[in-house]
Amino acid sequence: MNRKQPSFLRLPSLPAHRSSTMTLKEKNGPMYTRLPKMIVFDLDCTLWTPWIDYTYGPPFQYDAETNTMKDKRGEAFRLFKHVPEVFAMIKQWPDIKIGIASRSTTPDWCHTALKMFQVPSMDCSLYDLIDHMEIYPGEKRQHFKELHKASGIDYNEMLFFDDEHRNKSVTWLGVHFELLDPSKGLTMHHFNLALERFSKQSKRTQTTLDQYGMK
Ligand SMILES: [Mg+2]
Repeated sequence: MNRKQPSFLRLPSLPAHRSSTMTLKEKNGPMYTRLPKMIVFDLDCTLWTPWIDYTYGPPFQYDAETNTMKDKRGEAFRLFKHVPEVFAMIKQWPDIKIGIASRSTTPDWCHTALKMFQVPSMDCSLYDLIDHMEIYPGEKRQHFKELHKASGIDYNEMLFFDDEHRNKSVTWLGVHFELLDPSKGLTMHHFNLALERFSKQSKRTQTTLDQYGMK
């Protein structure tokens, strides 16, 4: 797909209700020379906690007020706080796709949870905002090969968030990897830093490829 992006891209402004807690950089919006074409997320301990396989499973109950779920024994299962905001922000860039790469052994439970967890500012579920989904056990490079096949997006145009170091193996394909703290999951702060790092790294990669006549 041929998608033209301006040479400098500003981060979209955040919802007004966050203005009092935002840093100056967040308020002004950092500048990027390049953005990923697909942002991919792991599920367990990246978007939610704990691991969904370790819950007692469905039927799940959703509490819209707190954006949390309970499993069949009433134990809480929650989305990390900034996840809906990050998804809404990505969708302000219409050309950036959202992908999921998870090794979960309970893909049907994952689908249910993604459909239940809401993005209040967009009046839809997380599921509604996801473009490509690969959920099954196995090495994550396989997940990315499928994401590449389905989307046509090059590996070096993908940014991946995951809480497990072993999944860094996707960098062998050229994917930009961001390791998260499993106790915090995806935070707005880490998301912004990752976009900055992606922008800088992409520039270096391009220079190197040009230098060796590989582009
Ligand atoms: Mg995980």
